[in-house]
Amino acid sequence: MIGEDMNSDSYDIIVAGGGMAGCAAAIAAARSGFRTLIIENFGFLGGWATAALVNPFMTHRTSDGKPLIAGLFDEINSRLAILGGLLVNSFDPEAMMFALQEMVLESGADIRLHALCEEASIADSGEIVVLIRSKSGEEEIRCRRLIDCTGDGDLAVSLGARFETGDEQGLPQAATLMFDVGGVDLEKALQYVKDNPDQMRFPKLSPDADPAVLADGIISVAGYYQLIEQARAAGDYNAPGDLIFYIGRPRKGEVTFNTTHIGGVNGIDAGDLTRAEIEGRRQMMSIVAFVKKYVPGFEHAFLLRSAAHVGIRETRRIIGEYVFNGADVTHARKFDDAICRLAYPVDVHSGKGEGYTKDEEQVTGPQIPPAGDWYEIPYRCMVPLGLENVLVAGRCVSSTQAGHGAIRIMPACVAMGEAAGTAAGLSLKDGVTPRNIDPGKMRELLKETGSLL
Ligand SMILES: Cc1cc2nc3c(=O)[nH]c(=O)nc-3n(C[C@H](O)[C@H](O)[C@H](O)COP(=O)(O)OP(=O)(O)OC[C@H]3O[C@@H](n4cnc5c(N)ncnc54)[C@H](O)[C@@H]3O)c2cc1C
Repeated sequence: MIGEDMNSDSYDIIVAGGGMAGCAAAIAAARSGFRTLIIENFGFLGGWATAALVNPFMTHRTSDGKPLIAGLFDEINSRLAILGGLLVNSFDPEAMMFALQEMVLESGADIRLHALCEEASIADSGEIVVLIRSKSGEEEIRCRRLIDCTGDGDLAVSLGARFETGDEQGLPQAATLMFDVGGVDLEKALQYVKDNPDQMRFPKLSPDADPAVLADGIISVAGYYQLIEQARAAGDYNAPGDLIFYIGRPRKGEVTFNTTHIGGVNGIDAGDLTRAEIEGRRQMMSIVAFVKKYVPGFEHAFLLRSAAHVGIRETRRIIGEYVFNGADVTHARKFDDAICRLAYPVDVHSGKGEGYTKDEEQVTGPQIPPAGDWYEIPYRCMVPLGLENVLVAGRCVSSTQAGHGAIRIMPACVAMGEAAGTAAGLSLKDGVTPRNIDPGKMRELLKETGSLL
């Protein structure tokens, strides 16, 4: 383990999974004074933010621009900015990997990379035993509190937690292989966007918009309906959907594509994942060839990098003391044990893999909180039914598919992780199980460290 203690097989708190939620949980847990270990399967931290190249941070503001999440999320943003890896809400994945690694180590937590948490069990002493497998073989590491941030709830399930997946038929949202493209002439690309509003879903640029100015800022472009139709008719486009969608990265001329869609993928099935990687890569190569041949501004573009792992939007949602749902979003519900405020809408991609379509339902009234308002995520979503001393945070928290579609975004995952680490520390300090902590006390601690509650 890299960190203070290289030979320990026992910790106060173990965080399984080093995505945005896991890193935030580990930092908060270690800062509350407890010996903490974070275990990650990849050779770097960040989860989907780095391994799946997901970008940008979706909005953590109300419709009238009030920020709803701060705390550790702001700290991460500051780190990214110092590294030159942040442009508004868009970040560089290399900067993210480094920022998270350094922040976790500075918090005093230990890191174990290249290690898969296989299962957890309860020892006679009441401690939780986490079985990990790596190139070193199998190891057991004990802890008093476990925070499952694997995104899939792997350890919570091995301890007996119940879960749900997907829609009523169990079909999860489509998978997407993200990729970055460099060498883009953004000014030229935006000139086409401005001149062809009927071809674009967004942005619809006004006649006085200046592409040269816009190219220096954060861009988010979706459309090119006609070019895709033409290319498809010519046998030059082999990806689903009516449009391509790309977002600027902080370095000018680099964009990330969120366009491939692979349907029917169970993200915890190795066969499905294999199919998704293969199909995603085929779609990616077709899209790259298409933009170079057809899309103004992309003539000299090149494939910079593809994600190390196909992006999986949802797998297991661990059933907890409260199941966050779509009505919580639309009714802007508030909770006594709130850990995070958010105004992001319900955002569920079809699981069939049809891609983004022209007439796809835009964010509509019933899926968003009232203008200027927000909803809250209760702590109870992170407390799995029937398990003691275990919390879950991030994209595997207790929610319906609609609820999950709103709270799965990265800023919320950071806030949930921060709350889980803080709650685990508080439970050890107060000698109670995480289920029985005083939520008021937890919220005070979170406010002291900058959370907007
Ligand atoms: C294609 C796609 C596009 C998206 N677009 C956006 C967007 O534009 N903006 C936004 O804010 N959000 C977006 N999201 C959502 C967001 O990226 C994720 O919900 C969020 O990053 C999840 O964070 P997490 O920490 O909960 O889980 P993850 O990022 O999934 O991290 C889990 C970590 O645990 C590790 N792990 C898993 N199992 C084990 C195990 N058994 N042992 C050890 N380690 C394990 C994994 O390797 C991973 O590093 C998108 C997601 C996808 C897939």
